[in-house]
Amino acid sequence: MTRYGTTRDELAELLADEPRYRVDQVWDALWRRRVPLETATELPGALRARLAEALPLALTPLTEQTDADDLTRKWLWAAGDAQVETVLMRSPRRASVCVSSQAGCAMGCTFCATGQAGFERHLHADEIVEQVLRAQHASPQRVTNVVYMGMGEPLANYDEVWSSVELLHTELGISARRITISTVGVVPGMRRLAHEGLPVTLAVSLHAADDALRAALVPLNHRYPIAEVLDAAADVAGATGRRVTFEYAGIAGVNDQPMHAEALARLLSAWPGVGGAHVNLIPLNPTGGFPGRASPSRALHDFARRLRARGVTATVRRTRGASIDAACGQLRRRPLIPPEGSPSTTMDPCANTGS
Ligand code: SAH
Ligand code: SF4
Repeated sequence: MTRYGTTRDELAELLADEPRYRVDQVWDALWRRRVPLETATELPGALRARLAEALPLALTPLTEQTDADDLTRKWLWAAGDAQVETVLMRSPRRASVCVSSQAGCAMGCTFCATGQAGFERHLHADEIVEQVLRAQHASPQRVTNVVYMGMGEPLANYDEVWSSVELLHTELGISARRITISTVGVVPGMRRLAHEGLPVTLAVSLHAADDALRAALVPLNHRYPIAEVLDAAADVAGATGRRVTFEYAGIAGVNDQPMHAEALARLLSAWPGVGGAHVNLIPLNPTGGFPGRASPSRALHDFARRLRARGVTATVRRTRGASIDAACGQLRRRPLIPPEGSPSTTMDPCANTGS
């Protein structure tokens, strides 16, 4: 039993010898007020100590990095024998947490450091939710948004991911539309999403408008080609009423030329999804195992102009700095501040977000 993997009923059982209102108090502190147990001083010290022992945290921080303006903060956690990363990104109007859904990833996208490192294990719902709460504890602002864009493919770990979404929605009160699930195109998972009651936001990592090129970047495309992915995405948009975002990592000379933009514009301007398509252009974050380089900024701005000319909205994200809304999705080989005695290679799924 972990602190954020315990239901209210289980907590009540644990506190059976305490006055009834203690259960509400503890639950309120953990989930509604979102404070660390140690600072919930309305609870007697002995009770806090007892809870800390009975309900341990699932994540142990290994490293923590903060950018110069303290708007972006990243953690590398030990979750049992696995390591995962979380990023907090703040702006005046929102605070977003980018969570990992798996340690590693089995999808093998060639340009992605998580994919290059391979799959370790699925994360449990409590490990996902705890990432949000631990980031909240460090954030002066209330966390308003959660994006599943850290390590892993969320729809390949559907049940645990969906349980975590329900907890975020029901217990933390984060509205479903402020929860974004990013997928590389796991079509069966997308179909399931379309039948859920909560209208979460969907992001689809596209990266190419034709199957041959996409399959070279995203091996899963052999199983679920572009047409099927777009069809499933339209299904989700129809069910949720939410505009779908398409992620596109610009790789110099590979997928960022005018002909690629025109092909993507044709594909997405004809896409029937409710709310239309929005394209997020992100310069590739170079990784050790992939020879590609980032698209120059002017290529991406030209790409975006071509999309807009055909009625497809598009934004260009910066790779680094405190760009709050930057997409996540890359492991970095080395943490900025390696802890003493730690291995020299660790993971950073969200290197696009800053520092
Ligand atoms: N597995 C899911 C979510 C995690 S990856 C998915 O693929 O959508 C989150 C995002 O980071 C994806 O859009 C992914 O394509 C992107 N990404 C991965 N590696 C990247 C890199 N080297 N540079 C830029 N974006 C990258
Ligand atoms: Fe997995 Fe997403 Fe990386 Fe592909 S881009 S390997 S799906 S984490």
